[in-house]
Amino acid sequence: MRLTKSTDIALRIAMRLAVLDEEQTPTTREVAEAVGVPYHHAAKVVSRLQHLGIVEARRGRGGGLALTAAGRTGSLGRIVRELEGVGDVVGCEDEPPCPLRHSCRLRGALRRAQEAFYASLDPLTVDDLVGGEGGGTGAGGPVLLGLPVVPEAGGAPFGPPGPGPFGPST
Ligand code: SF4
Repeated sequence: MRLTKSTDIALRIAMRLAVLDEEQTPTTREVAEAVGVPYHHAAKVVSRLQHLGIVEARRGRGGGLALTAAGRTGSLGRIVRELEGVGDVVGCEDEPPCPLRHSCRLRGALRRAQEAFYASLDPLTVDDLVGGEGGGTGAGGPVLLGLPVVPEAGGAPFGPPGPGPFGPST
């Protein structure tokens, strides 16, 4: 099973925002750069994340994107379900529809496998994914923290400087 590109981008953005301090609120363009995706893809995904209550856009001077409490501690399984939507793993009802669909046992088996996949993510949160002290899946937090550096509006870096694949634009 493969997640859609937009779900992948959404989870990258959520993890990247999860390691920032409260006052660090990057723009969509900065986040897109930090997670290595084109701006227009990131903008669409950020809009969806805002709609789902996972990301908020803070206004005013120094405003920008931030992970909400629900985005930080909500079930990862629920988030991925929301992003992926419900539907068959394969295109049983595509046009033309599969002629086996009314009596197909594979279809039900794939649905159960899909649900088992989501259920395995249910106990996890975005916080777990970036927790460095034995939380969740391990070393994600330190790695994300070591990434640069979303520049502040005034140009000062948020984190330690250094080259890297997600480095700030010039
Ligand atoms: S064979 Fe079964 S699972 Fe595959 S497309 Fe047809 S109905 Fe769906």
